[in-house]
Amino acid sequence: MDGPSGSGKSSTSRGVASKLGLRYLDTGAQFRAMTWWMLQHGVDVDDAAAVAAHADDPVLVSGTDPAAPTITVDGTDVAGPIRSTEVTSAVSAVSTVPAVRGRLLREQRAIIGDGGIVVEGRDIGTVVAPDAAVKVYLTADPEARAVRRTAEMSAGTDITATQQDLLRRDRIDSGRATAPLAMADGAHHIDTTPFTLDEVVDQVVALVEE
Ligand code: C5P
Repeated sequence: MDGPSGSGKSSTSRGVASKLGLRYLDTGAQFRAMTWWMLQHGVDVDDAAAVAAHADDPVLVSGTDPAAPTITVDGTDVAGPIRSTEVTSAVSAVSTVPAVRGRLLREQRAIIGDGGIVVEGRDIGTVVAPDAAVKVYLTADPEARAVRRTAEMSAGTDITATQQDLLRRDRIDSGRATAPLAMADGAHHIDTTPFTLDEVVDQVVALVEE
């Protein structure tokens, strides 16, 4: 399940995994956890060489229960802190660093194993799992995405600022050299703007059951 931030990927992926009894992996949370670690350790996230030098240092553990996904870094639960505005502002820079992507790619493929999992991100259908049984690319209007993403962020987050940040991240995520956000060959495109979450989940479940 790929698409830009706020397109409904997380809620849809978790809903589909729950309905079908599959595991769930949020790869955005992994990139956010890497970013949280870099900020905690005073690494300049705009210095790609510095980020690359520490790419293998954090120990990440991702829980794959769609009802209660978890993520820890060096044993610390970071599910809350990785949604902060500081991490959100810095995550696209960290995600452009090939050493970070390469390290997470290995871990993502190890977690995916033989399948039976819904994986969400930006490069799942293109890079991480090009042989996935079903590939979905979700989009939504920028306003709808900002409203949804604001609801997920820390209290007091401003919608206009969120929308500007989403568009800034879209530019970086789509324009980077390594694994840019793009629709995979054979992916089903769903514009979620006019649909409720349940409707989108049902559309994806129907694709899986086809
Ligand atoms: O999905 P979420 O907004 O939490 O992802 C945070 C950031 O992580 C994205 O803006 C993108 O820079 C990066 N990311 C990525 N590849 C993925 C998942 C996320 O580059 N597969």
